[in-house]
Amino acid sequence: MSLTEIQTRIDKACAEAGRARGSVELIAVSKVQPDERVAAVLAEGHRLFGENRVQEAAGKWPRFRKDYPDARVHLIGPLQSNKARQAMELFEAIHSLDRPKLATTLARLAQEMGACPDLFIQVNTGEEEQKAGVLPAEADAFVAEVRALDLPLKGLMCIPPVDEEPSLHFALLAKIAERNGLSGLSMGMSGDFERAIALGATHVRVGSAIFGDRVTGH
Ligand SMILES: *Cc1c(COP(=O)(O)O)cnc(C)c1O
Repeated sequence: MSLTEIQTRIDKACAEAGRARGSVELIAVSKVQPDERVAAVLAEGHRLFGENRVQEAAGKWPRFRKDYPDARVHLIGPLQSNKARQAMELFEAIHSLDRPKLATTLARLAQEMGACPDLFIQVNTGEEEQKAGVLPAEADAFVAEVRALDLPLKGLMCIPPVDEEPSLHFALLAKIAERNGLSGLSMGMSGDFERAIALGATHVRVGSAIFGDRVTGH
């Protein structure tokens, strides 16, 4: 599906939800995609991308940014503390803040570097053992902890369980964000971004619907 078609579907979902056009940012998830597909989407004028691995992003974005200095890249996958500095240098936002130790590391580096990417706390709405994120019951306390560290917290992110209706998870995430006064909601992927927009998503992360199937999915 073309980028234009996805943008049209986003605009339509905004209209149906009574939301302003442009109130949702489309993150084109370029992980594992061949360079020529990413280059094509850049050539079409799109500038916001998502990557889920620091190493992979470090291998391709400095190159693309030579031609497109205004390209922005968000980290949407897990972040190890020992890669925090590199991630802060590479990404305009990190959507996977999920534990106190990472928050203190980011705060220390932010002091030292004088800048910090926008942050989203990942919430494990499905309480899945293998999935990253703070539990819904721990989210309020973690939000307070991150704020106390003076970090630029913008919102919350979730990845619903594959076998459940995502809307329940989007609604839960929106509720946690609202009671904490957070406006950013990173939720919705290729199969469910319209439902996420209906429930307040401000950032949708769309990969395969734009780029086609990933050869090695992760
Ligand atoms: C890969 C990935 C996406 C995009 O998934 P698609 O189904 O290809 O749209 C979104 N969010 C995260 C965290 C991902 O890892």
